[in-house]
Amino acid sequence: MSFAQTLACTVLGSDAVPVVVEASISNGLPCIQVIGLRATEASDARERVRCGLASLGIGVGDLRRCVVSIAPADLPKSGAALDLPIALAILAALGRLDPARVARVASHGELGLDGSLRAADGVVAAAFAALRSGAEEFLVSSGNARRAALAPTCVLAAPDLRSVVAHMVGAVPLERADAASLRNVASFDVDLADVRAQQAGVDAVVTAAAGGHNVLLFGAPGCGKTMLAQRMPTILPPLDAHTALEVATIHDAAGLRERELDARPPFRAPHHTVSQQALVGGGGARPIVGEITLAHRGVLFLDELPEYRPSAIDALRQPLEDHEVRIRRAGWVARYPCRTQLVAAMNLCRCGQWGAVTGAACSCPASSRASYLQRVSGAIIDRFDIRTRMSLSGSIADAAPATDSQAAARGVEAARRIQLERWGGRLNGEVTIVDDARFDLDPRARARADRLAQRTDGARTQRSMVRVARTLADLDDRPRVSEDDIVAAFDMCRSTPGGASHD
Ligand SMILES: [Zn+2]
Repeated sequence: MSFAQTLACTVLGSDAVPVVVEASISNGLPCIQVIGLRATEASDARERVRCGLASLGIGVGDLRRCVVSIAPADLPKSGAALDLPIALAILAALGRLDPARVARVASHGELGLDGSLRAADGVVAAAFAALRSGAEEFLVSSGNARRAALAPTCVLAAPDLRSVVAHMVGAVPLERADAASLRNVASFDVDLADVRAQQAGVDAVVTAAAGGHNVLLFGAPGCGKTMLAQRMPTILPPLDAHTALEVATIHDAAGLRERELDARPPFRAPHHTVSQQALVGGGGARPIVGEITLAHRGVLFLDELPEYRPSAIDALRQPLEDHEVRIRRAGWVARYPCRTQLVAAMNLCRCGQWGAVTGAACSCPASSRASYLQRVSGAIIDRFDIRTRMSLSGSIADAAPATDSQAAARGVEAARRIQLERWGGRLNGEVTIVDDARFDLDPRARARADRLAQRTDGARTQRSMVRVARTLADLDDRPRVSEDDIVAAFDMCRSTPGGASHD
């Protein structure tokens, strides 16, 4: 019996983990058996690898009884990207490649039936896992090369299995791949200045962006809620190389293959028919990341909030507090990051006309209006530090243009810099203990905050009020939170779509 092994990586949600692929060849009836993968994935991989080896002139008869094992066995593994490591382990066990050399490399790629190599999902996370596993080289398909090379490891790209073999025997070395470049920002086709006659809405979105607050915009259709939400990424600071890579790794693992690294913060706007699993992540044996994680370092926008499944919306609560989604399965826990700002918009009734100024009348019975609003639980409403009722104020034609995105972004960035220093990497909207002295409330502001909180629901309102007031002071570059900040913040956080402001 002859034996060989090689390194590979399997994608698990937004991350990848190193695995070992072993092959043993012994005398017996010719066959390839793959263990450690689910049955359908194992049989698909076996057929692709068999055809790939045939492209090198290696037939089933040469293989004799070939057993491939992928360890650890209890880890859920994604199949196709394991084709190349499986083929390499078999070639080494056959003595066609040096087993010692094959044991020191990691690889990732799907085999076509003609032996060509295809790009596979999750190559960025896999390249980092390969680096952790201590592999000397990471072999991928040409289509995956630039993204794989985002990891600081030796990435070599090959068009097909034959070129990989030529490299491994030292005949024709493969070239080292260059990394994808960071695409520069400033390429938005929308701007905050497009939004007219909506000062309250603009203030809400700028304050939310500055302090990392979740924001709920409500009001009749046509008042610009969606327009404002879509402009949120234009006023957020661009991602730096480190965070852009973090986002690219997550997106790549989820199968979103962008060509270059993008410095623009992600903006995800899933339709209201989205399942709970697709929204927060989860799933069966092999977990998927949810929209909240795809929006990591950016914005998750839920338009028409009451139309979403109440269970899906409620499942956002914990991740929004923890900035992390945890998925438990037998034997392991997957953790997906979600430092995500939630922006939501909603009408005040199903037909949308309640509260409109257009003259159209709401056709919903009063009972249906109430049940529509009740689809969004109070516990979720509490997660929004800023809740703004929008209505059209005055004529759009006469209104002065709002602040443009560039100017707003400068203010947001300056305010964020102060907060990141104060809280050691966090923003005001991410700080949960609001009696922390670093909020630095003027004594009169503290007394006012206490009084206002007592008049309403207490702790939740107080928390939102103090956090938003701190952001208003930071936007003005004032070290102390004044009583005026508290009053302005109270105005921004007290409304609820139910109409009853806490007064
Ligand atoms: Zn209505």
